[in-house]
Amino acid sequence: MQRLLPTLLAALAALVAPGLGAPRAAAGSGEKLQVVTTIPDLADIVRRVGGDEVEVKAIARGFENLHTVRLRPSHMVMVSRAKLFVQVGLALEHGWVPGLLESARNSRIMADGPLNVAEDWPYLIEVPLTLDRSTGVDIHPLGNPHVNLDPRFGAFAAQRIRDRLKELRPEAAAAIDANCAAYEKEIEQRGQRWKRVAALVKGRKVVQYHKEFSYLCLANGLEMVGALEPQPGVPPTPRHLAQLAKQMRAEGVQVVVHGPWTPGRIAEDAAARGGARAVELPVMAQRDNGETWLDFMDRLHDGLLAAWDLELPPEEEDSSR
Ligand SMILES: [Zn+2]
Repeated sequence: MQRLLPTLLAALAALVAPGLGAPRAAAGSGEKLQVVTTIPDLADIVRRVGGDEVEVKAIARGFENLHTVRLRPSHMVMVSRAKLFVQVGLALEHGWVPGLLESARNSRIMADGPLNVAEDWPYLIEVPLTLDRSTGVDIHPLGNPHVNLDPRFGAFAAQRIRDRLKELRPEAAAAIDANCAAYEKEIEQRGQRWKRVAALVKGRKVVQYHKEFSYLCLANGLEMVGALEPQPGVPPTPRHLAQLAKQMRAEGVQVVVHGPWTPGRIAEDAAARGGARAVELPVMAQRDNGETWLDFMDRLHDGLLAAWDLELPPEEEDSSR
């Protein structure tokens, strides 16, 4: 698939008429700013911060491996017409975004560059000391890029998006600032429940399939014992799985978490061998049912509770504001 990508993109590019990209809107015409994002989480946050100023579309639907999202001709057309392209960055979308942007031939986006929301993410973890390619290519070369599962992501992303939108729409700066502040306040309120979930699951041990839950684990005080992939992007090997099963039994790991895109049977077999259960958790918001990043985070934390058959005490639920 990786090798087919350039050919596919070249074919798709032919569908985008040259000169179609970046139609100019008259300043102050009230026309909405067209934005394309890689993940639905970012589309939601752009909508919250941009309000009436923006019209946003996301490429990923919510079930994909974000390192290898399958592209369609419609994505090329979307990007060719956009004024702003927003991605997580940290090489998360490196396998498919550069080719997409090149093929869409959008001079505006090529000149400005995409907004890499997590470019200066201050909480970066799992940065490889060396890039050992002897066992395969590490697809997290800059550190763990799955920052949209970190409860701190919403406010962080909103602020970066706010700053870029104000550059593009200075006349709407006051409204954008107000939208962002209101959104940050809402995150703070909704986040109180996530903190109570963390207090319940804290200290439990977990194994991941692909290291896309590391920020979530840290935020919840979960102890990460290992991953089924020997290194990010490298499929599990029998030898690695055997070692991990032994370690899981020795350490009493009860839960193996995996995303919707991973082979569930491998996770289930590995969990059973280690005396644990496999639990599927979401890795981003779902686009087609309009799930917001906040709702996705709620679902993620509910998934953690369910993984260990836990429930938040109702009396605490009542006293929460
Ligand atoms: Zn990854």
